[in-house]
Amino acid sequence: MFNSQSEQFDPLVATSPKRLPQCRSYWSDTIDIGAATSSLTKSVHTDVAIIGGGYTGLLTAYYLAKHHQVDVCVLEANRVGFGASARNAGFVLKGSGRLGYSQMAKRWDLDTAKGIYSEFSEAVSRVKRLIEEHHIDCEPQSKGYLKIAHNAKAMAQLEGSANFIGKYLGDDAQVLSLSQLKADYMDHKQAFGALRINDGFGINPLKLLMGYKTMVERQGVPVFEQTCVESWIEENGIHRLISTSGEVIANKVVTLGNGYTPKRLNSAVDSRFLPILSNIVVTQPLSTQELAASGLNTREVVMDTRVLKYYYRLLPDNRLLFGGRGAIFGRDANKPIYQQRLKFALTQCFPALKNKGIDYNWNGWIAATLDDVPHVYLKNGIGYSLGYCGVGVSFSAQAAFRLAQQIVGKPVPQLPLYNTPAPKFPAAGLRRLGQWSYYHYGWLKDRYF
Ligand SMILES: Cc1cc2nc3c(=O)[nH]c(=O)nc-3n(C[C@H](O)[C@H](O)[C@H](O)COP(=O)(O)OP(=O)(O)OC[C@H]3O[C@@H](n4cnc5c(N)ncnc54)[C@H](O)[C@@H]3O)c2cc1C
Repeated sequence: MFNSQSEQFDPLVATSPKRLPQCRSYWSDTIDIGAATSSLTKSVHTDVAIIGGGYTGLLTAYYLAKHHQVDVCVLEANRVGFGASARNAGFVLKGSGRLGYSQMAKRWDLDTAKGIYSEFSEAVSRVKRLIEEHHIDCEPQSKGYLKIAHNAKAMAQLEGSANFIGKYLGDDAQVLSLSQLKADYMDHKQAFGALRINDGFGINPLKLLMGYKTMVERQGVPVFEQTCVESWIEENGIHRLISTSGEVIANKVVTLGNGYTPKRLNSAVDSRFLPILSNIVVTQPLSTQELAASGLNTREVVMDTRVLKYYYRLLPDNRLLFGGRGAIFGRDANKPIYQQRLKFALTQCFPALKNKGIDYNWNGWIAATLDDVPHVYLKNGIGYSLGYCGVGVSFSAQAAFRLAQQIVGKPVPQLPLYNTPAPKFPAAGLRRLGQWSYYHYGWLKDRYF
């Protein structure tokens, strides 16, 4: 069994993620990413410098170069895909459920909730278009996103969500009874029914990322790998980004490190996000008998309604990918307990898979914001985009598109996603204590309420 050992970097502890190995995962075994592109070895002038070579960094560079003819370069501390973009579950979704659309309508107003829904929907279509137009062979699976109710109360809430989506957002959300779920999708032993939305889908996230990298390179944009920005000096609105072996002099800088943004890189970001570890296991391929015994009859992507959610999908080679929360601190990320917990949860959902072996186990950082929505924000030539809260595979594409517009001074929709900075966490130094308390609250709520 392969167990990732690379998770020593902790963004709340370390000030730079340099010289770290790629995460080995199921995905990294499906594609050879080739040799690194060159690192920065001299002084380079550019209009916009992008720090971070994940989905957001690459696509922001792509849109700036392709749509706006801006001179841009990408600086990545390690290899492209060191961060979450090569570690995720590959769900392309238009909402993670952390903050429902009816909650958004209450927090802001209905028009704002509709506006955010429209941006998230556009994000899913955008990814689909990019895959098609650029012939990215990232194994898109059948369309559909199932949200599984883990108790009767959650089922009633899903019915309410379906009504809200149909009535106010004009979209289709199908409520599935337990017997429909069992007949058509899976024999899930902890489910009370489900909500099905028909435009989520699964992809191979690393193949998608390498497809984006090729798109950027075709625009002639330099992607400097193994180039960690270690200091940043601003003088009269001009930025000097200094790495071990070179420097970039830029008019504007965007830090697109998301959950991998080290502390003190960008003071506009410090204290505005909480990096959360998510852990994934992938089983050995399921046999025809095991598929039948667990009733797994779908390649759609699945998440449940727990506070501490589990997410899963059947991969093209019939392995089951199963994910959920990981450790709180980076130093604990690879302790066996997190894999064991996932295996236990998987077995509770599908007891027929009790003895199935686990072939892969890895983890990575997700960035959460205090208000549970992403923020794509630019001020005085310095910007960031973070806090996708589990929908970064899709939303990173929309964020990159909008950030490129902001950088060249074009208008973007007047939504809290784009016109307000991510709120600061109060007592930011205690974020992890808050997270620990939240996990205990979630554990109790998921079991007893
Ligand atoms: C286990 C897991 C499962 C997930 N599953 C899903 C899912 O199924 N669907 C979904 O939508 N989202 C999912 N996500 C979230 C999603 O992967 C992220 O939101 C998304 O990949 C963020 O992309 P990004 O480009 O913004 O950041 P990243 O991909 O994290 O890239 C940031 C990059 O910045 C670089 N960097 C940081 N500091 C510096 C520096 N000083 N100098 C140079 N480079 C620097 C890092 O090396 C890193 O490569 C998951 C995340 C994890 C960890």
